[in-house]
Amino acid sequence: MGGFMEYVKTRTIMTKSDQGNLWFGIDYHMNLYRGCSYGCIYCDSRSDSYHIKNFDEIKSKENALQILEEELASKQYRGVVSFGTLSDPYNALEEEYKITRGALELINKYGFGVSIDTKSDLVLRDIDLLKEIQMNNNVIIKISITTYEDELARVLEPKVISSTKRFEVLKTLRENGIYAGVLMTPVLPFITDSEDNIRNMVRLASLNKANFIYTKMGMTLRSNVHDYYYEHIEELYKGLSSDYKCVYGNSLVCNPLRYPDLLEFFVKECNRYHLLCDMSEIIKDYKKKISMNEQISLF
Ligand code: SF4
Repeated sequence: MGGFMEYVKTRTIMTKSDQGNLWFGIDYHMNLYRGCSYGCIYCDSRSDSYHIKNFDEIKSKENALQILEEELASKQYRGVVSFGTLSDPYNALEEEYKITRGALELINKYGFGVSIDTKSDLVLRDIDLLKEIQMNNNVIIKISITTYEDELARVLEPKVISSTKRFEVLKTLRENGIYAGVLMTPVLPFITDSEDNIRNMVRLASLNKANFIYTKMGMTLRSNVHDYYYEHIEELYKGLSSDYKCVYGNSLVCNPLRYPDLLEFFVKECNRYHLLCDMSEIIKDYKKKISMNEQISLF
């Protein structure tokens, strides 16, 4: 799909992360785009705290790849660079503008690793590059899926491919030897927090050969995201927004009412399929090939 891209000025593309142990072992954050076209009704990046005006319009950073190349060349530590924490790196304009692909080429050239969050099948276009990158460094792809039910996903994530197709993307990545799994976040109280959803999400992750499935079993609702979210969940059940207000008030973190039980149920289901779901184990697992190579090269 083609379209007009607006550019915004920036001086930096990459920033150092100090949350690596808590979030997939990443060393650097990078957002090549601002805004996102996928319209997820729960999107946290819509919040004013990130200062992104007209969030649904995609903008790119001026000279993004040139700045990125300078930054990569100047870094001593060739760590894992995270794509897409605030917007999907495979948005509706990426097919035409290929900025994410350009960044992956640079990552490959300078020997860094990558961690990608996406809901799009366009990631399959870059399998060739991902294979090359993982010969020298670590690669982890997180396919973001919140519900196994396509009809529900259509309401929650109106401009994204169906959940069924996202599971197929996962399978294709795995069949190509790419380390990949499911990011089941957020989990929406009263909507996707059922045992049925958890059971089927874990089952389908396993069936489609995921290396892992990860969830935080809850959601964040920042103050200025409330209205957008509440307006849309009313389409699901009349009065649902009142239930939220009654239970969570202005709370930032909205965990399901049965949070501990659901988390226990999730872990039990993952164990049943021998699927990794603990953050430190996932990090250890996807980084093990490269750490083994490093150890071998010491001898
Ligand atoms: S794909 Fe991610 S960044 Fe884009 S709207 Fe959905 S949640 Fe937000």
